[in-house]
Order: sequence, then C-alpha cells, then structure tokens
Amino acid sequence: MATQTQQNKQPPLQVAIIGAGIGGLALAVGLLHQGVPFTLYEAAKCFSTVGAGVGLGPNALRAMEEIQPGFRKLYGSISSGNVTPGKDHAMMDALLVEEGFGEKRGWKPVSYGAACYERTSAHRKDLLDIITGSIPKENLRFGKRVTTLSQTDRGVVIAFEDGEFAEASCAVGSDGVKGMSRGVVLGERWPELVNATYTGRYVYRAVIPMQKAMKIMSKDLDGHERAGDAKMFMGDQCIIVTFPISKGKECNMVCFKMDDKPWMYHEWTKPVTKDLMLSDISELGVDRRLVKLLEFANPVQWALHDHLATPTYFSGRVCLLGDSAHATLPHQAAGAGQCIEDALVLSRLLGLVSSPNQLETAFSVYDGIRRPRAQRVVRTSREAGDICALKAPGIGDDMDKIVANQCQRYLWIWEHDLLDDVVRAESEFRSRTGKETPGQQPTGSLVLAVAV
Ligand SMILES: Cc1cc2nc3c(=O)[nH]c(=O)nc-3n(C[C@H](O)[C@H](O)[C@H](O)COP(=O)(O)OP(=O)(O)OC[C@H]3O[C@@H](n4cnc5c(N)ncnc54)[C@H](O)[C@@H]3O)c2cc1C
Repeated sequence: MATQTQQNKQPPLQVAIIGAGIGGLALAVGLLHQGVPFTLYEAAKCFSTVGAGVGLGPNALRAMEEIQPGFRKLYGSISSGNVTPGKDHAMMDALLVEEGFGEKRGWKPVSYGAACYERTSAHRKDLLDIITGSIPKENLRFGKRVTTLSQTDRGVVIAFEDGEFAEASCAVGSDGVKGMSRGVVLGERWPELVNATYTGRYVYRAVIPMQKAMKIMSKDLDGHERAGDAKMFMGDQCIIVTFPISKGKECNMVCFKMDDKPWMYHEWTKPVTKDLMLSDISELGVDRRLVKLLEFANPVQWALHDHLATPTYFSGRVCLLGDSAHATLPHQAAGAGQCIEDALVLSRLLGLVSSPNQLETAFSVYDGIRRPRAQRVVRTSREAGDICALKAPGIGDDMDKIVANQCQRYLWIWEHDLLDDVVRAESEFRSRTGKETPGQQPTGSLVLAVAV
C-alpha cells in the first residue's frame, strides 16, 4: 500500500534496485517508507532459500526496526534463541572441533556474548518473508537478470537477459558478492578489485531436524543438550558452527574447511559425492558426532569470497549495497546486518533527494558514512576467522584468550549508534545541497521574529 508521502510526491525520481536478497529487500522497504518510487529487479524466478540459517545482531535488528517499525516483533515470531534458560545473551559456546570437543584436555565449554546481545537466528526464507511482507507486488519483478547497466544524461538504462530494457534515475546494485554492478562501479578505475577474493575456505551447509541433532550430539557433562544452544567448534583445519532455527525445530550447521589451494572450479559452488564430503572432514580428526550431523548436508562445497578492498561504493548514478560492496567472511555473523545498515542510511538519504541531480551527492554521503564501517567488518571478520582457526597472533589455541577476545570483539559492531549515522548523513546531505534542516528557520525569519 502506498504511504501518504508516496502519494504526495511527484516522481522525478525512479530508483532501480538490482537483486532481492536481504540488502535489496531492506532498501525496498526503506524506500517505500520514504515515499521514493522504485522497482526491484531479481534474476531468480522466486526468492532463493539458499543459505538456511542467519543470525542478526542487535545493530541489525535496530536498523531494521528503524526501516520498518514493528519488525522486531515480527522477527521474534520467526527467530529462535538458545534453549538453555539464562543463556539469552550467549552468542556461542566455545568448544574444539576435535574428538571429544576438547573435554579430554580439560576444556569445558564456555559461552561468549554480551549484555547488549540477544541470541537469535532465523531461517533465511522466514526472514525474507517478513521483510517482503509490506512490499507491493507491482514493485517487484522476478526473472529479470540484469546484463548491463549504462549511464546516460538522464540516468541509467538497464538491459535484461530476456532482451527487455528499462530506464531509471539511478540504480542500486544489491546483486551480491558475484553481482555485475560492482564491475560498473569499479571496473574502469579499479579493474583488479572487481572480483571478490577467495578466502581460502569453503563450507558445507546442513539443516537437521532438531530432535535428530540432539540425539546425535547427546548431552554435555552438565546435562545440557549440545545441539540446542549455539555452538562454535574450533580447529585449525575445520570450524563447525551449529545453532537453532525455525523456532527451535531445526539445527543449522555450517562446516568450514580450510583450503590452502586457489579455488579452481569455474563455479563458486562445487558438487561433490557424499563420501568425498564426509572423508574431507572426518580425516581431520573432527568429532564423530559432528561428522554424523554432516551427513544431512548437501554435498556441495561453497567457496567463500570477500571484498577486502572497495575504494568507493558508487560511480555516477550507480551505487553498491550489501555484499556487492562488502562481501565478508561469516565469522562475525555480521554480513546481513551490514546490508541492513546500508539500506537504512541510503533510504533516508534518497528520501531527501528532490531532484535527480542530487543523487550523486546522496551516494557520496552514503559512501562516506557506510564504507569505513562496513570495510572494517570485512577486515575484522578475517581476523575472527583466524581466531576460530586457532592461529591468531598472540592467541593461538589458548581457549581462555579466545573467549576473552570473543567477548570484546563484537561490541563496536553491536553497540554502534546508527541514529547518529542517519543524523550525520542527513545533515551532510543538507549542507551539500543547500537544504534546510527541519525545524531550522532561515536566518531572515529568525531576525524578524526577534525584532517583533
Ligand atoms: C555460510 C554463511 C553464513 C552466513 N551467516 C550470516 C549470519 O549469521 N549473519 C549475518 O548477518 N550474515 C551472515 N552471512 C552473510 C549474509 O548471508 C550476506 O551478507 C547477505 O545475505 C548478503 O545479502 P545481499 O542482499 O547483499 O546479497 P545476496 O543475498 O547474495 O542477494 C543478491 C541477489 O541479487 C540477485 N542477482 C544477482 N545478480 C543479478 C542480476 N544480474 N540481475 C538481477 N538480480 C541479480 C541474486 O539472485 C540474489 O537474489 C553468512 C554468509 C555465509 C556465506
């Protein structure tokens, strides 16, 4: 349903969003609330459910609530926390991936997290459903793969694989880590930075019925269900993360395998046989119960890439958002949160644009506010990956030091003042475009008021 603002606003502006992942959808909801006309083009014929579980930190939830008031409540209806009472603020329990989870060498699982953090994760499909709920169908176009984006005097011309064309005032490329829009923004000036970098690890992913996962994992020495609470099993060759999704009915598993060779397969997902997958992990000395959980995985190696360096998030009227700008390793569970933060800041800025010639200013302000923070997430996620692989300098396999580090390392991500970002973005945009700040009267009227 169109908002009041949308009905009042006469479009000089038409935004094309490319890609309906978490980033593109969050932006669409934001633009809807700001009354900015948009069309979202998605290559797939329907929403992709690939990816299974996703956990959102407090910053991500605050950003989404700012974009779509009431989101937190909806999210609460689809997300799952730890099952053990009193572990609401525990992000993960730290264990070792080796046979016996480290218990044989005296390690007892310890939780890490923070008071500001609440443990929740959701099935990606459920998350996309609640974000999409308010977007009118006519703004969404599925089965529209963008092949080229060209900039003209009037904006952008978008060409699709099916031979169709569309015009818009600008385009936001939220087309993911392999998206084509990154080439449009960086290709001319930084061709070497267009493609994402292989991070030297791939994952297998599984969703396991929780009852089966609990049976396989059994209870720990304190009598708690091992599969019920979120767990990080660390090791130098393999890291396994498990956490509950689907209101606790399913257990999500991500199994990382370190790989010192370049990724040579032509696709980023490589199907293998089930036997190869299981031996790939079991030969590393991984606990047999975890290998049993892995039997539920799709035998597919999913190569992880990131964008460690992105010198700008925009070029002219084309702007990057989400993984196309800052794809990251998932070791801080922060990638989706950064997509939503992008969407919050960009939607507020585009809501202030009153003519297309202000678009580049909006993109430049967005770039200045969002890029330093999002790129820091990319860099520190690599560090977090090293910590979980027991090879961070000065920490190594000292589990006490690892837990101490994990208790501190996310605070700057989770506690960040997002409203300050929005205020700074809006005020910078206003000062660069000569727009007044609301509530601020022109100097002339002030003088007159004082004189009267
Ligand atoms: C194993 C793993 C675990 C993760 N866990 C977490 C977590 O717990 N918490 C967290 O915050 N983050 C997590 N992340 C990161 C998070 O999933 C991503 O940051 C986020 O989903 C990216 O969203 P996006 O919208 O930018 O891109 P995507 O989700 O990749 O969406 C891009 C969309 O664009 C479409 N598209 C691509 N090309 C075109 C084209 N040419 N034309 C039209 N459409 C196109 C695609 O079909 C797709 O729908 C994880 C990532 C991985 C790999």
